[in-house]
Amino acid sequence: VVKIGKVPIGGRAFTVIAGPCAVETRDQTRNTAEAVKAAGAAALRAGAYKPRTSPYGFQGHGREGLAILKEVSEETGLPFVTEVMDTADVDAVAQAADAIQIGARNMQNFALLRAVGQTNKPVLLKRGLSAKIEELLLAAEYLLAAGNEQVILCERGIRTFETATRNTLDLNAVPYIKQKTHLPVLVDPSHGTGIRDLVIPMSLAAAACGADGLLVEVHEDPAVALSDGAQSLYPQGFRNLMNSLRPVVEAVGRQMA
Ligand code: PEP
Ligand code: MN
Repeated sequence: VVKIGKVPIGGRAFTVIAGPCAVETRDQTRNTAEAVKAAGAAALRAGAYKPRTSPYGFQGHGREGLAILKEVSEETGLPFVTEVMDTADVDAVAQAADAIQIGARNMQNFALLRAVGQTNKPVLLKRGLSAKIEELLLAAEYLLAAGNEQVILCERGIRTFETATRNTLDLNAVPYIKQKTHLPVLVDPSHGTGIRDLVIPMSLAAAACGADGLLVEVHEDPAVALSDGAQSLYPQGFRNLMNSLRPVVEAVGRQMA
């Protein structure tokens, strides 16, 4: 069991971490955090440093974003996870955040893995866009070898020949990894599908196949989101997700954190 703040990931718990793709404004972050908290999320997610395909896309607010997250986290009582992309920012992110995310694009950034491995914060390591499970586990091994044993893995979909969805969510990975390792495994149905209407069904499937929780994107108004609006749930959609999840989580013998 790895703890983000006081929130357990693993064991009997099923833990939902929710929030916007990115910190856009203080109000957007606060409103979204309050909405996900009211619906039963245990922790907050949002990026201050955003890995964007285009250099002209919104890159995140960096340090200012971290400060907003810290403020909103204190106001709501939700611990938060946020991504670090550069070794130069590891100390700042480790100081502000309750858990450090290493994103898909950096799963095999070995210098970053070593630097984050030297912090004392939990790490949420996402599977690379085209990474085999073995490569994900060896990336996790870099963190463990550097001394950080608080590692949470995250299946977020992989590239396949299928283009109907943004990625192909590889739910095989969940029970496979849980048989091969002791590490908790989250599923990200938002990046895993890229399509809002698929987020609830794939979340239920994730709970059914043994995931330890979800990392899910929610925006107060996805229509105006600066990134990943098409896959972000509306607050009402997130409430529906939580209501649909509870019976599935109970059916597999787990408890909502
Ligand atoms: C994210 O979680 O905001 C993100 C960028 O995800 P990924 O690294 O899985 O693409
Ligand atoms: Mn995103």
